[in-house]
Amino acid sequence: MDMNSRIAMFPGSFDPPTNGHIDIIRRSNALYDKVYVVVADNSSKKAMFTAAERVGLLEALVADMPNVEVLSWGGLTVDFARKHGVGVIVRGVRALTDFAYEFEIAETNRQLCPEIEVVFLPTNPKYFLLRSSMVKEVAFYGDEIKGMLPEIVSKALKQRVSEMRNQE
Ligand code: ADP
Repeated sequence: MDMNSRIAMFPGSFDPPTNGHIDIIRRSNALYDKVYVVVADNSSKKAMFTAAERVGLLEALVADMPNVEVLSWGGLTVDFARKHGVGVIVRGVRALTDFAYEFEIAETNRQLCPEIEVVFLPTNPKYFLLRSSMVKEVAFYGDEIKGMLPEIVSKALKQRVSEMRNQE
């Protein structure tokens, strides 16, 4: 399919989705005609939530964003882009440490598919240090940093931690 610069995708693990992700999705919804939020369904990575659970949480969180569609994908980002006519990959950048990594992925994707453009949106400063792995770590010890998670994610996370503790 021809790639369209009005159609964007925001790929990630979203394990779980945070307010930092939602901020980037909301801003992308305002910038593009269509935004695919693409949940990595990567069986080799150990996730706390299944891809279907992450899609379900994200769908509830983007219900008021008309241009956004949430899907899961187990392949290369550029193959999703080709299949859906996506012309732009959106990535959020936080602390400076993100930059080297993001630059590397962008360059890899550019070599695989030169027609695709990568757009970096700077994080909202409130979420400068927010990452899903930190959220999980804190949750595992029974706590939460205020203002970082949507209510439904916070609930799902507490539930999952208690299930994990019961299995121990
Ligand atoms: P994480 O690093 O939080 O596990 P993901 O793999 O789910 O993130 O990341 C998907 C995209 O979301 C990436 O472009 C990442 O930079 C972006 N992102 C993650 N957290 C934030 C945040 N707090 N602010 C802005 N962008 C973010």
